[in-house]
Amino acid sequence: MTPLSEELRTLIASDGPIPVDRFMALALGHPRHGYYMNRDPFGAAGDFITAPEISQVFGELIGVWAASAWDALGRPASVRLIELGPGRGTLMADLLRSANALPTFHAAISVHLVEMSAALASRQRQTLAGAVRPVSWHRDLSDIPEGPAILIANEFLDALPVRQFVMTERGWRERVIGASEGALAFGLAPDPVPAAVVPEGLRAALPGAVCEIRPACASLAGQLAARTGPLAGLFIDYGYTETAHGETLQAVKAHKFVDPLAEPGEADITAHVDFAALARDLRAMGLSTRSPVSQREFLFSLGIRERAEALARQNPASFERLRSGVERLIDPAPTGMGALFKAMVVTTSGLSMGPPAD
Ligand code: SAH
Repeated sequence: MTPLSEELRTLIASDGPIPVDRFMALALGHPRHGYYMNRDPFGAAGDFITAPEISQVFGELIGVWAASAWDALGRPASVRLIELGPGRGTLMADLLRSANALPTFHAAISVHLVEMSAALASRQRQTLAGAVRPVSWHRDLSDIPEGPAILIANEFLDALPVRQFVMTERGWRERVIGASEGALAFGLAPDPVPAAVVPEGLRAALPGAVCEIRPACASLAGQLAARTGPLAGLFIDYGYTETAHGETLQAVKAHKFVDPLAEPGEADITAHVDFAALARDLRAMGLSTRSPVSQREFLFSLGIRERAEALARQNPASFERLRSGVERLIDPAPTGMGALFKAMVVTTSGLSMGPPAD
């Protein structure tokens, strides 16, 4: 029993069962008890590890991608470098260091971090204390000044809340969380939702089929499209490239999967990213997307092998650490980061941008 599960039981007792997206939003972002709000969850001593925390090469190569994005934007003298959900700020620090190799690009950058957690924002402030470029923090993407922009989001989308629907004899019903004998438990809302809530290709299904949607992706697409000035963005996350039935909600604590309802606020809760749905949301707003590629393919195209070899030559003692970090990032096993994680580029229409190519 966590402080948040107490609070959720009180909420459910007064308002009734809550949908999965509300549960997820509170589990991660409740002002006092939300998982990200009062801790640093990353690394071996934490709950999970992300690509920039595995190897500096990751953020450095994102810097190479950002330089090519700046080129595609027409080399503007001033560019907003936006990161959604920057964690410890490690990716941005590594990116800025590698961008320094292209002084006109580096000099054009102002950094804009979108972060909901004050605890992590202060951690980012420490990591970026030495950054030469101006850095500012925003609670929301819409607070960032207009103008040409490069956007980076690594493992951000997976933390955005999902809704789940289950096909029953009476149609699609929303999965909700109620309380049963004092414990939180999954259930179904009594009334079916209109079929239009479910993506077109998934509407016809047998009872028991589950459909997951992430409404925040459509709002994010709307906010990106509402910006004036050219934009190039990069989303990297674990997920799948074709919309399909199934549920992917998962909770992780101390590097192990746990029951998502058991310790709300004390375990990370995420769901896989449906890149096809994200692309539909972005295109519906008039933005262009490239086909997602595997993280392995993406990092190869940016020269991960050559980068790691160059670093190892500079500092032979780091060879083994670099080699194992890189192997982990490009691991092609089905559950390895190289295959499970995908990279997808979005741009304002008419911008030619690679890699990855269309
Ligand atoms: N990109 C980092 C961290 C990923 S964890 C890395 O790769 O290491 C998710 C990050 O997104 C955290 O910083 C978390 O606090 C932030 N976050 C999650 N949901 C958010 C939201 N709705 N708005 C702003 N930040 C959010």
